[in-house]
Amino acid sequence: MTNINKFVRNFCIIAHIDHGKSTLADRLIESTNTISSKKLENQVLDDMDLERERGITIKSHPIQMDYTHSDNNKYILNLIDTPGHVDFTYEVSRSMAACEGALLIVDASQGVEAQTVSNLYLALEADLTIIPILNKIDMPNSDVEAVSEQIIELIGCHKSEILTVSAKEGTGIDTVFDTIVNVIPAPTKKHENGHSRGLIFDSFYDQFRGVVAYIRVFGGSFTKNDIIELISNKVNFEITEVGKLKLEKVSTNNLSSGDVGYIVTSLKDVSDINVGDTISLKKEKEVEPLPGYKEVKPMVFSGMYPVDSNDYEDFKTSLLKLKLNDAALTFEPNVSTALGFGFRCGFLGPLHMEIVQERLEREFNMNLISTAPNVSYKVITRSKDEVIVKNPADMPDSGNIESIMEPYIKAEIITPDTYIGNIMKLCISKRGVFQSTTYLSQNKVQLNFILPLGEVIYDFFEKLKSSTKGYASLDYEFIDDSISKLVKLDIKINGDIVDALSMIVHKDYDYQSGSKICKQLKEEIPRQQFEIPIQATIGAKIIARETVKALRKNVTAKCYGGDISRKRKLLEKQKKGKKRMKVVGNVELPQSAFLAILKSGDE
Ligand code: GDP
Ligand code: MG
Repeated sequence: MTNINKFVRNFCIIAHIDHGKSTLADRLIESTNTISSKKLENQVLDDMDLERERGITIKSHPIQMDYTHSDNNKYILNLIDTPGHVDFTYEVSRSMAACEGALLIVDASQGVEAQTVSNLYLALEADLTIIPILNKIDMPNSDVEAVSEQIIELIGCHKSEILTVSAKEGTGIDTVFDTIVNVIPAPTKKHENGHSRGLIFDSFYDQFRGVVAYIRVFGGSFTKNDIIELISNKVNFEITEVGKLKLEKVSTNNLSSGDVGYIVTSLKDVSDINVGDTISLKKEKEVEPLPGYKEVKPMVFSGMYPVDSNDYEDFKTSLLKLKLNDAALTFEPNVSTALGFGFRCGFLGPLHMEIVQERLEREFNMNLISTAPNVSYKVITRSKDEVIVKNPADMPDSGNIESIMEPYIKAEIITPDTYIGNIMKLCISKRGVFQSTTYLSQNKVQLNFILPLGEVIYDFFEKLKSSTKGYASLDYEFIDDSISKLVKLDIKINGDIVDALSMIVHKDYDYQSGSKICKQLKEEIPRQQFEIPIQATIGAKIIARETVKALRKNVTAKCYGGDISRKRKLLEKQKKGKKRMKVVGNVELPQSAFLAILKSGDE
C-alpha cells in the first residue's frame, strides 16, 4: 500500500483506567515542546473541569506534535488520548477510526486488566498496529517479568517488542518515539476512492463560532470556503476555517489526505451534524460514505426534567449541543405527570449518566431533576405484541402481560484471588450466575458471571471496589434479553402515584424492595404542615407503608419581631429558588427523593 505522507503518524493511547495514558501523553507533549513548560500541568489533556476534579479522562483528546527524529526528518505526530472506563468505550472506538496505530499501556504494578483486554480487541478490529508499553516501572511493586508474560500471552508479541517506561519520571520515552516512527505505518491510501472524504470523529459547539468538527481526511483535501456536503443528510455548509489540533486550535490552509484536524462549519442547526458521518465536497457527486462506527445502543435510561418548566426549550437546545460532544447520548421527549415536560435519556452505563447530568448542569447551567436509572424491558403482551419499555411508568397493566424480558450481561471481573469469596457473594446477591474462573497468573484470576444489567446499574461498581479494596476491575458486554419474574412497583405519596418513582423489581424481592424504598423516602422527604403517607403498591395491593410526620406547630412560632421574620422568609424564598424541589400534588419532593432507590440498596 502506498503511503500518502511518510512523515505523518496517527495513533491513540489505550489502556485500563489509571494505567497512565494521560501521563504518558504529558511526556510526549513535553519532549516535543508542544506546550511551553509553563503551561504544562499534569494530565494536561484532561482539560474539562470534571476530568481534573475526578482525575479521569472522559473525552478523547487529540493533539498534534512536531517531532524531529534521530534521522533528522521532521514528523507530524497526531496523538489521541482516550478514556479507560467501560462506559466511554464509544469514545475510544471512534478515536481509533482516525488512527493507524495504538500504544497499549499496561501498569507494571497492576498487570493486564479488563479494559486492557477489551481495548486491545477494539484496536485489533480497527486494524491498528499495536505497541505494547509497560508503564510505572519506577513503582516498587512493579513486576516487569510477570506482566510481560501476561502481555505476551495476550497479544502474542515477542518480549523485545514490549517497551518499558515510567511516564511519571520520563524514563524510556525516547524509545517510545522511535517505535512510533518505525513501527506505526504512515497513513495509506487504503480508504481512498478518488473523492475528497473526511470522517467526523468528534465535534463540539463553540458559542462564538458554531459547530466545530474533528475530522480525519481519507482522500483529497479540504480548504477554507469549500462547500461541503454531509453524506448522511445531504446538508450543505461552507467551511469557515480549517486547522490542526495543537493544544489551542491553529488554523492552516488546508487538511489533506492522512491529516487529522478540525473544520469550523457555519452550520446553524446543531442537529445537522452527526459524529460518524462523512463529509465530501458538494461538487463531487455520488460519494460513498466512509465506514462509520457501530451504532451505539444505550443500556441505561433516566428521565430528566427542568426544575422550572419554563426552561424546557433551553434544556432541549442544551441536549442537542451536548450531543455534538457526546455522540453516545440519546434522548427523546417525555412527559411525566409528576415532573412535567422533559426528556428520557439513554446512556452507555451509570458513570456515563452521571457525567451527562453534571455536564448539563455545569456547561449549560441547567437545573434538573433526574429519576433513578433503569434498563429497557421487552414486554410480550397477552395479545402477543412486543413492547419496549424504557420507562417503568410505561409498563403495561400486569393483567395484560404475558412475560417480561430484561437485559443480561456477561461480566468479566479480574481480581487478586484473595477476593474471590467476596465477589461471589456480591454477584449472587445481585442475581448473578457464576460461569467460570481462569487464572491469568499466579494469583490473579478472571471470574465470569452472567448478571441482569438492571442489578449492576445502581451500586455494583462501588460495592465491587469496596469488597476488593479497589483491586478488582470489571468489564461487561450485553449478551441477551431473557425472561425474568418482574413486577412494577408504584409509589404513592399522599395517596397519589408518583410516576417518576415507579420501578421494576424482581418478584421474589418485591416486599423487601418496597419496604426499603419507603424507608428511604421517609428520610428524604422533608416534614411539612401535614402528615404524608408513603406507600409502595403492586397493582391494587399495598405492600409497604411509612409516614412522614407533620411539623409541630410551635416550631414555627415567632421569636423575633415581625421585621426579622419577614426578612428571613424572604431569604428562605430565595434559597428555595435554587433548591431542586418539585411540588407533586401538594407535597414538596427534593431531587434526592427521586434517587432514593439508589440509596436503599444496602442489605
Ligand atoms: P489514565 O487513566 O490511564 O489516563 O492514567 P493517568 O495518566 O491519569 O495516571 C493515573 C495515575 O497514575 C496518576 O496518579 C499518575 O500520576 C500515576 N502514574 C502515571 N504514570 C506513572 C508512572 O510511570 N509511575 C508512577 N509511579 N505513577 C504513574
Ligand atoms: Mg487519562
